Amino acid sequence: MLAAGWKGISTVDVNGAVTFTLWLCGCNLRCPFCHNWRIAERQNCGELDVERLLDELARAKPYIDYLHVTGGEPLLQAEELRHLFKRAGEAGVARSLNTNATLTKALEKVIDEVDHLATDLKIPDQMYGVPHWQQLWQNFLTSLKAVSGRKIPIELRIPVANLPLETYAKRIEEVGNALAETEVTVVIQPLLGPPTTDPRDSQWCRQYCNPPSSHLQQIAKLAAALGKVVIKNYGI
Ligand code: SF4
Repeated sequence: MLAAGWKGISTVDVNGAVTFTLWLCGCNLRCPFCHNWRIAERQNCGELDVERLLDELARAKPYIDYLHVTGGEPLLQAEELRHLFKRAGEAGVARSLNTNATLTKALEKVIDEVDHLATDLKIPDQMYGVPHWQQLWQNFLTSLKAVSGRKIPIELRIPVANLPLETYAKRIEEVGNALAETEVTVVIQPLLGPPTTDPRDSQWCRQYCNPPSSHLQQIAKLAAALGKVVIKNYGI
């Protein structure tokens, strides 16, 4: 598996949980605000030593809620990920996957080994950074339905940009229809620009990042129908 590294104890990667977090490399999207774009573009990555990771995971087990795998897009390495999750599960560790959820067939390969899923609700035409966003959005909704149907709890993150409220309202409604059957925690967070972050496309960020706090509040109201809402406004 191509990985950028792991952190044995993290309190910031899943809301309200302590995780052992692993970053996998590569991504099928090119989000302009992405601050993990070097990992997404497979820079500074290397072959994962799975046995060493599992040793460290066993030592961390008493202190963590999940092995959390993020990226990049972990589902680009779905077969290997399924194997890793299976072994973590056999060791008694719950598994959390952070995915953009646009690779539906790859998700099917690992879904039996997933205990918690985190994903972003991004405005696809503006934020996926690829031309075939319509198909990917449909895939996203199909993935959410699959996860919801299995009652896997979801952390739905909404990265907020300076985009019209109506755009968010439309997408939140579509997602609500897909997520009717499971427990949802919505995390609303602003997209921050330089110098706080190092986005892939600074020019895009100059135009759309750092939304006002009022925009977060309005989107939080729209999202309240989905589940419990947490706002992380980072002091803006
Ligand atoms: S899906 Fe995530 S890792 Fe991939 S480009 Fe978008 S923000 Fe970056």
